[in-house]
Amino acid sequence: MTKPSVAIVGAGMAGIACGCALKEAGYAPVIFEKSRGAGGRMATRRTADDLQFDHGAQYLTARSDGFKRFIRKAVSTGSVVNWQAANKSIFVGNPTMNAIVKAAAEGLEVRANEKIEMLNTIDGQWTLSSENPLDTFDVGVLTMPAPQIIELLGEQHSLSREIADVCMAPCLTVLAAFPPHQPVPFVSRRIPNDPLAWIAQDSSKPGRPRSKTCWVAQASPDWSAEHLECRPEEIVSLMLPMLCEALGTDPEMATHVSAHRWRYALVTAPLGRPFVCDDSASLYLGGDWTLGARVEAAWQSGSAIAADILARNGT
Ligand SMILES: Cc1cc2nc3c(=O)[nH]c(=O)nc-3n(C[C@H](O)[C@H](O)[C@H](O)COP(=O)(O)OP(=O)(O)OC[C@H]3O[C@@H](n4cnc5c(N)ncnc54)[C@H](O)[C@@H]3O)c2cc1C
Repeated sequence: MTKPSVAIVGAGMAGIACGCALKEAGYAPVIFEKSRGAGGRMATRRTADDLQFDHGAQYLTARSDGFKRFIRKAVSTGSVVNWQAANKSIFVGNPTMNAIVKAAAEGLEVRANEKIEMLNTIDGQWTLSSENPLDTFDVGVLTMPAPQIIELLGEQHSLSREIADVCMAPCLTVLAAFPPHQPVPFVSRRIPNDPLAWIAQDSSKPGRPRSKTCWVAQASPDWSAEHLECRPEEIVSLMLPMLCEALGTDPEMATHVSAHRWRYALVTAPLGRPFVCDDSASLYLGGDWTLGARVEAAWQSGSAIAADILARNGT
């Protein structure tokens, strides 16, 4: 049986997990990614003065056997390491969070800077369009956050209606650097109902530059929703004093401050199953929003889509 051609939209953990499993089975999936490279919300920002911040996913944990195997392999190749924080040992990418996805994506065809703006089906084949029409494919797999999938397909699409109840909360994030070697009260702190729900000393993760002490502070979903449309400088002016109060530091000491707005950060109402697909199994929708606000959920969703494609095509 000829293997169907597969287009995957999104080079986050879900898209790359799907692509890896298909490639392992002899398929040649093509992954379209709107940004400069793989990683998605497992994101790292580098600044001109050589600072580095993981401003999306902070760390990951592995509960399922499949994801534990994936992490064990990543540990053996060095793209994942342990980080001692919050009184427990958790996993982080090395030397950046997106290194995990980038390492997994090696050997896959990832077409970066390609934002898919339209998806049409003609004679049972999918045509993807960015600024220009791209190739046609037998199977399409969309792995963006659910609201962005609905935007692409249109609210009236039958699959959009199946995922309409999925909710994703925003997260406003501030990144700040201070001179090194100053005493700090903690390395990481999580207080879910505090406006600053998570604070972490990013530069304490293994493999990170240590010339400055770099902090990432993430606002709670409620606070983020309330201030979502603030300009970056307003976000900084509100969040930096809160961060400095928690650290016992003077805001004037900051040598770098910037903000990031995640409009669709964390899944608050997941779908409850790892993917949806149409009757002919030619269009699949997946991502972390199917199962929960975790990297592992994204991996499980992408892997489950690949398994379904393989099962239906006798491979
Ligand atoms: C602030 C924050 C903190 C988090 N903290 C943690 C944590 O500590 N631990 C944890 O396990 N998880 C955490 N998460 C969640 C974790 O990051 C996600 O669960 C996971 O990265 C989602 O992967 P994904 O592949 O489903 O989606 P994404 O990573 O969002 O990937 C989707 C990809 O699709 C691309 N894309 C979107 N639209 C298009 C288009 N039209 N055309 C082409 N490409 C497109 C995007 O650029 C993106 O690369 C956090 C997330 C955020 C935002």
